[in-house]
Amino acid sequence: MSRTPPMRALIFLAGAALLATSACGAGAAESTETAAGGRPEVIAAFYPLQWLTEQVAGPDANVTVLTAPGVEPHDLELGIQQMTKLQDAALTVYVKGVQPAVDDAVSADTAFDAAAAVTTIPAGGHADEEGHAEEHGVSYDPHIWLDPSRLATVAGKLGERLAAADPAHAQAYKDRAATAAGVLGGLDQEFAKGLAACAGKTLVTAHEAFGYLADRYKLKQVGITLDPETEPSPKRLSEVAALARSEGATTIFTESLVSPKVAEVLAGEVGAKTAVLDPLESKPAGDYLTAMRDNLKTLRTALGCAA
Ligand SMILES: [Zn+2]
Repeated sequence: MSRTPPMRALIFLAGAALLATSACGAGAAESTETAAGGRPEVIAAFYPLQWLTEQVAGPDANVTVLTAPGVEPHDLELGIQQMTKLQDAALTVYVKGVQPAVDDAVSADTAFDAAAAVTTIPAGGHADEEGHAEEHGVSYDPHIWLDPSRLATVAGKLGERLAAADPAHAQAYKDRAATAAGVLGGLDQEFAKGLAACAGKTLVTAHEAFGYLADRYKLKQVGITLDPETEPSPKRLSEVAALARSEGATTIFTESLVSPKVAEVLAGEVGAKTAVLDPLESKPAGDYLTAMRDNLKTLRTALGCAA
């Protein structure tokens, strides 16, 4: 009975074959190298990390994204090809707790966990939802990218990490990281000013993804569910309805990747409207910056913020 060799052994054998080919001066190995342009392969786990990594990597690394546009990243499953890609990459940029499949596949020496770069907040604003932290395998809320100031911190640390991985271009990575951090700092200022004087402070959201935004700009998030794929219990729905009424929420926020049904039912019950707030877990029509500015506009209208 033949035994399947482990993945690492296969990769090792493939690498040895490639070395043998290039030692003979054949063209095959060269063309493989040209395909990547000789640049380090860097994998971003999902969209906001892709955007940030592209800003910092510039032309010095080849950045690809693991989660295809339009796919809800929390549910990502990895095929053999993606596993091989992850094992071969110079660096994988991810947020531990967002995608269990990625958490399991990466190894610490070639992975950058953006959550480890910032101060996290505990998962879940309400105690009665079962198992969210369990489900994500971490006790903190993983949606760190929805606070531009935290993402600016990530930019700086990612610049240092890329500089270490590719020392020949160290200064360029650090310079671009500083530029990205500056742009994100500017966005943070726009949010701080735009949300400084609002009639309402409570965000009732279908998918509880905006904890960091609420934390940074002194808003209060009431999330219906942490997992956008899970139907909330009738008990949870009536609790949120009561909260929405007592907080005087005029808008229930929904998102584009998930059915707005739950939010619409709740809005109907409490006499509120619905509006789309993008958790940026998939590529928006524009980019991270334009989508965040759209979110700010939506928030300012919904919360009745002063001009
Ligand atoms: Zn999420």
